[in-house]
Amino acid sequence: MKTILTGIRPTGNLHIGHYFGAVKNWCKLQNDYNTFIEIADVQALTDNFNDPDKVRKNVREITIDLLSCGIKEDTTIFIQSMIHEIAELTVFYSNLVTISRLYRNPTIKTEIRQKQELFGNNGESVTYGFLGYPVSQAADITCFNGELIPVGEDQTPLIEQCREIVKKFNSIYGETLTMPEQLLTKTPRIKGLDGNEKMGKSLGNAIYLTDTTEDVTKKIMSAKTDTNKIKKDDPANPEVCMVYYYHKLLENKNIETVCNECKNGTRGCVACKKELIEKMEEFLTPIREKRKYYKENPEIVDNVLKEGTNKAKKQAEETMNKVKNSIKINYFE
Ligand code: ATP
Ligand code: MG
Repeated sequence: MKTILTGIRPTGNLHIGHYFGAVKNWCKLQNDYNTFIEIADVQALTDNFNDPDKVRKNVREITIDLLSCGIKEDTTIFIQSMIHEIAELTVFYSNLVTISRLYRNPTIKTEIRQKQELFGNNGESVTYGFLGYPVSQAADITCFNGELIPVGEDQTPLIEQCREIVKKFNSIYGETLTMPEQLLTKTPRIKGLDGNEKMGKSLGNAIYLTDTTEDVTKKIMSAKTDTNKIKKDDPANPEVCMVYYYHKLLENKNIETVCNECKNGTRGCVACKKELIEKMEEFLTPIREKRKYYKENPEIVDNVLKEGTNKAKKQAEETMNKVKNSIKINYFE
């Protein structure tokens, strides 16, 4: 059975971008693969080190979100900081990556630019830990012999960086690490309500699985539509409209009607948004019910995390032994 490794940062609740871009696929894959899901609290601290309460709270919140979406209680969900081997591997891998290569990583570049736009700093605040997180992500993946990595498209440069590290490690120290491969869905990058190419927790453009009906209504009502459409019966271009985009994402059976009516001006944006709110509510209602159950039973959630972390720990110890043998630091064996 092949091994899948994937992860999520406990920086906020899950949004529909996570669900349709990644988590929905994890729910399917968990039945056929040895699945590890990492709650990446160490990675979350790289750019949230000054807010440990947020990270701590979201470890359980994200786990509840995952279980409410259909991740099974016996799938391995583990807490990154509790697996010390990951930090140890990161130290050894950091010798195999140059600083200029990290600065050239497109995901790192984009995230630094976003932080500059959001917080107005000039990039001097990029820390060693943040710049190095692709190295620690390579440790996450290889620690569990991850073969397939089902993640969104934003992660492509990070998987590429991991593959380079694996190649270099194996060529210097001998075949030790498993070469990972990214697994994308048909919707690998879900756009934000504002039309941004990525719906992101840090970007303020997301519909969360925890949003109330009121939140959903407010957000959809202000979603980006075709700015050339001024009056209700103006024809418009659905391809530039986020409302149409989410109708498609939720697999609205009337999608052709939505498209045609939009194009020929017989569908007003308000009516179209109301229909989307209804569909979104249909999608969110069963998730909200399961969420309520896990909120009322926190001991089940803690148990999932404890058992998952124990299982991950065993695998990590095995990998660490192999790695230590390869780099000849197994002194008294
Ligand atoms: P942060 O802003 O804290 O980085 P995030 O929204 O980018 O949060 P992550 O925890 O970094 O979320 O990502 C978790 C998983 O969800 C990854 O596999 C990532 O590729 C995927 N993902 C996140 N946002 C999207 C999106 N908009 N479309 C598709 N996949 C996404
Ligand atoms: Mg991210």
